[in-house]
Amino acid sequence: MVAMVAEAQPFIERYGIKQVENFFAPLPCQLYEGEVGGVTLNVVLNGQQQGSDLVGCEPAAVATLSAIQRLHPDLVINSGTCGAFKKKGADIAEVYIGNGVMFHDRRVPGDDAWGTQSLGNYPVWEGSQALAQALGLKMGKVTTGSSLDMQPCDLEIIEKNGGELKDMEGAAVGFVCSLFNTPILYVKSVTDLCDSGAETFEEFSRNLHHACETLKVANERVIDYLVEHLD
Ligand code: SAH
Repeated sequence: MVAMVAEAQPFIERYGIKQVENFFAPLPCQLYEGEVGGVTLNVVLNGQQQGSDLVGCEPAAVATLSAIQRLHPDLVINSGTCGAFKKKGADIAEVYIGNGVMFHDRRVPGDDAWGTQSLGNYPVWEGSQALAQALGLKMGKVTTGSSLDMQPCDLEIIEKNGGELKDMEGAAVGFVCSLFNTPILYVKSVTDLCDSGAETFEEFSRNLHHACETLKVANERVIDYLVEHLD
């Protein structure tokens, strides 16, 4: 599951996987299908509207729901870019594996059960840690919201819950996977440091190409690992 063309393109080119036109019509999501080492690899993009990528939770949930129902994956991988924190040792274009996932912009008053449900905290694939160790990748908790910027109330929830990787789709994908008991693995490359003081969109845009290249390299290693280790 990938939100942006820029994130998927290097990877699609590397594997020479082909688009299956109109597979999800009338939904905007797009399917690319191929085979790696005898395993079917489906890359599903959220799609576009008015010429720009449909980033964010709603398109990610629609795409994930449809992909699971139509393609019955053994494992879902949410691969994309994220913000991270230099105070936690992150660098631009560094690739992380998610060790948890939640929302950071759902401030819903009520009892504990309601608050807990709002934050999400969905399970990640149980093999995530072994994979990260084998590939020498850091792990971090993904937190998701509907905005690229970070408001003080977002940061408060991120810090309180040990969030490290800030994105706009991860928890939506995780929510849908949790409904189907489909395991999910997060592979996230850092485009911007939320505590760098820089303007986030400018930093994101400047580093997008570099982060997507390291993401492609990591994805290749992840796929090789999975082909070798999964039945
Ligand atoms: N107009 C921009 C939109 C990019 S939105 C464009 O089309 O280029 C940012 C995307 O990168 C989202 O898919 C999100 O998951 C991820 N992302 C990268 N850095 C982020 C951050 N600091 N906060 C939230 N999402 C981030």
